[in-house]
Amino acid sequence: MSPPPADSDDVWLHCSACRRDLRFGQIHWVCSVSTCNRNRMRLVFCSVACWDSHVADARHRDAWAVEAQAPSRDAWRAEQATEASAARRRRAPPAAAPRAVITAPSPPPSSPAGRPAASSPPRPPRPPAPRSPTASTARS
Ligand SMILES: [Zn+2]
Ligand SMILES: [Zn+2]
Repeated sequence: MSPPPADSDDVWLHCSACRRDLRFGQIHWVCSVSTCNRNRMRLVFCSVACWDSHVADARHRDAWAVEAQAPSRDAWRAEQATEASAARRRRAPPAAAPRAVITAPSPPPSSPAGRPAASSPPRPPRPPAPRSPTASTARS
């Protein structure tokens, strides 16, 4: 087991509070609030004290520090590669040609089935026929 090389390549991220280096595989602290752990703005802290200062800034109502271990360099590189390709997939337009935008004129308002043809004059509305109760009873 040889000690890891102490070059700058060994730095994983920087503490979000004091900017100190966090190295691959190092134990550090993260915020328990899920929005503080998004890949876009991953908040990592070298100590609980640094996390404390973040909580004061973020004004979390209910948060605690979570101990975490930085990934190994290989794991981190693999993760970065996956993210990069995923971002490329999201950003890239579909390979197919852009779909033709259909700009057909809006269809005429749908007419009821029994509508008279345009040539025939409009019929005046028929007044309701007065029905005599006696006639109806006589028929039935
Ligand atoms: Zn720190
Ligand atoms: Zn937080």
